[in-house]
Amino acid sequence: MGQSLIGIFGGTFNPVHVGHVRAAIEVAEALGLAAVEFVPAARPPHKSGEPVLDFELRLALCRLAVEEVPGFSVNSMEADRPGPSYTCDTLAALGRERPGQEFCFVMGMADLCNLPAWKNGLGLGRLAHLAVHSRDGLGLDAFTAFVAANSREMEASPTGDPACWDLPAGRRLSFVPIARLDVSASDVRERWRHGRRIHGLVPDAVRRELENRDDAIAALWGRRIRT
Ligand code: ATP
Repeated sequence: MGQSLIGIFGGTFNPVHVGHVRAAIEVAEALGLAAVEFVPAARPPHKSGEPVLDFELRLALCRLAVEEVPGFSVNSMEADRPGPSYTCDTLAALGRERPGQEFCFVMGMADLCNLPAWKNGLGLGRLAHLAVHSRDGLGLDAFTAFVAANSREMEASPTGDPACWDLPAGRRLSFVPIARLDVSASDVRERWRHGRRIHGLVPDAVRRELENRDDAIAALWGRRIRT
């Protein structure tokens, strides 16, 4: 992949945690990405029913999480579009904003398996390179099985390396095995509600901001049980 490829890491980030930061670092290092932009979903289409923190707070937490990681930044562009935050619209908008720049959309294995439920999910490879990292024990076997079963809709052709497929317009679909960190935002929220420590699960600056914003958070995640 080219030197100036920019990684786009989308998510709800409710809240951002160390699993997100490490996954993005490992993918960036494996693929030689020039930079990574975390793109929090303003109105996540796939998390209805979940108590999601305000966009501005999730954005601020993402900024704290990546502030010391060279090349990493946070992009608030999904706030500018009304309606649900669809990844295909975000990637199309990035292409219009920065013509000539190639992007690589980064997602975990579970998200790859959910692409058929996303708006134009199996067509994302017409808009950007795609990088899929392992998560929760789903690795290369699950990746190749999914891509082989959906290769026609994804316009993916085998290269001989099961971790690497060709996409239209010279783009690539890559699998990146990463160290497994069993941290999820749901688990962080659950521990938070029960007054348990979240040290080590989220970057320290993120934890401090969550503690400062206890009242705003209680309205969404539920009040903390004091232990
Ligand atoms: P929730 O528990 O609320 O469903 P989440 O922890 O899965 O949230 P998201 O914001 O939905 O977080 O995830 C954004 C991206 O980060 C997705 O591609 C997801 O696969 C990836 N991701 C989340 N947690 C991890 C982790 N522990 N290790 C690797 N990737 C992760």
